[in-house]
Amino acid sequence: MGPLASLTWSSRFLDETPGDEQVNGPSRQVPGVCWSRATPFIAPDPKVRLWSHSMADVLGLLRGEAQSLAGGSLVQGMDSYAQRYGGHQFGNWAGQLGDGRAITLGEVESSDGVLELQLKGSGHTPYSRFADGKAVLRSSVREFLCSEAMHHLGVPTTRALSLATTGESVMRDMLYNGNKALESGAVVCRVAPSFIRFGSFQIHAATGDEATLRALATHTVRHHFPSHTIDDDAAIVLWANEVAERTALMIAHWMRVGFVHGVMNTDNMSIHGLTIDYGPYGWLEDYNPGWTPNTTDVSNRRYRYGQQPQIGAWNLARWLESLIPLMDEPESLESVLDHYGEVFNQHHNDMWVAKLGLDSWRESDQELVQELNTVLQTIETDMTIFFRLLCDLEGPEPDALSDAFYDLSQAKSIDSQWREWLANWWQRVGGEPNRDAMKAANPKYVLRNWMAQLAIDAADEGDFSVCETLQELLSNPYDEQPGHEDKWFQKRPEWARNRVGCSMLSCSS
Ligand code: AMP
Ligand code: MG
Repeated sequence: MGPLASLTWSSRFLDETPGDEQVNGPSRQVPGVCWSRATPFIAPDPKVRLWSHSMADVLGLLRGEAQSLAGGSLVQGMDSYAQRYGGHQFGNWAGQLGDGRAITLGEVESSDGVLELQLKGSGHTPYSRFADGKAVLRSSVREFLCSEAMHHLGVPTTRALSLATTGESVMRDMLYNGNKALESGAVVCRVAPSFIRFGSFQIHAATGDEATLRALATHTVRHHFPSHTIDDDAAIVLWANEVAERTALMIAHWMRVGFVHGVMNTDNMSIHGLTIDYGPYGWLEDYNPGWTPNTTDVSNRRYRYGQQPQIGAWNLARWLESLIPLMDEPESLESVLDHYGEVFNQHHNDMWVAKLGLDSWRESDQELVQELNTVLQTIETDMTIFFRLLCDLEGPEPDALSDAFYDLSQAKSIDSQWREWLANWWQRVGGEPNRDAMKAANPKYVLRNWMAQLAIDAADEGDFSVCETLQELLSNPYDEQPGHEDKWFQKRPEWARNRVGCSMLSCSS
């Protein structure tokens, strides 16, 4: 364990892909490159407030070095840059986007292979467009807590090493409604094998820049998909199949734990199939597949919970299109979409086997799952509590599920529907559901929107103890942790029903 300077740093991405001649500079279009060198801004009063010990152990890093982790002080070996990418936002091609509020410090060797360290919120880059490149404490707490919680849930994700406050105030219009306010600035240091996205490829295909596209694909495959090449059409299809598989697996996990990403634009789709860019995400409390937490998306609800698997396919299709310039016969890419569908269905069936404690998947289970989906949506029912209580059910009686219902009198009115479904389920599992499998698939604790908000409210007052409690709690999300039940194994409290940050979130951060 040592300081940042003791790590073994490299810059493979900079070495192997074309970059911008200019360092820093104004917001601008930067054609023909994958990156621009950018320097983090100097935080006036940096303080490390949250720290992931498990991430630090992987890196072999000691806690501290606020100056570097809040930006502003590069150590020997770092060569900082912002990545250039494009993307489809809410279904429309948006052109060049890029790391507008993220700066990569470099890549380091770790016990999990080479990992990229990136600061989010560390100031302006050529890709910041009209914005300042900064992040506020509210959104940084949400990214730090959620990415670590997802990791411990077993969901593929980028990680967070640290959260530092900068000592600076940042002006934000949280709901884009003209009510601006000063908020504390913060920087999260996040970690992943790379932050290459679907949109990283799209930008070069969109501008007809085959050479840069090829350089990026070669780099990506060489380091991140070492059993693949892009030597010919067949090889590219095999690689694309693996990207499809990882994407399908990630989204199947989201569905299992009730996670709604909120902004599944193609610039927010990691090539590794990692959950990336925690913005206006949310967790299903009431089991409503039509729900999205993102206020920017309320009219179409394009990125609602129940549509995430289809959006995964749509995004994948856009990425596949970006590979066309590398192919002799691009038609062969079509099979990748079918592959995505098959792999997703397989994971989804496996997910239901585990969530319901079945022995294996049978075609007839489709009906059991469909009926469950119907009853779950009839009245307001808490997804996490329902599935967790189901793990311990001793017979096909709905009484032991009552804590999952938001309105008990309503629950009485559908008592017979529950009895019928439970009887079918009980019969299907022969009175012996696989409880261990169920408890490993149905988390007891997730980062409910109101839990994150309580942590933010305290952090805004300089008290990071709630963040730390949640960090600890959510590092063992499948354990009973009886001392925490009364506070955190709870449905959404009434105060959170319509509160900004709990039921409504915007992209503003
Ligand atoms: P997102 O919706 O968070 O994925 O962001 C979309 C694009 O907007 C990305 O290119 C971001 O880098 C950029 N962006 C978002 N917030 C800021 C900010 N505060 N300053 C600069 N760029 C930003
Ligand atoms: Mg993004």
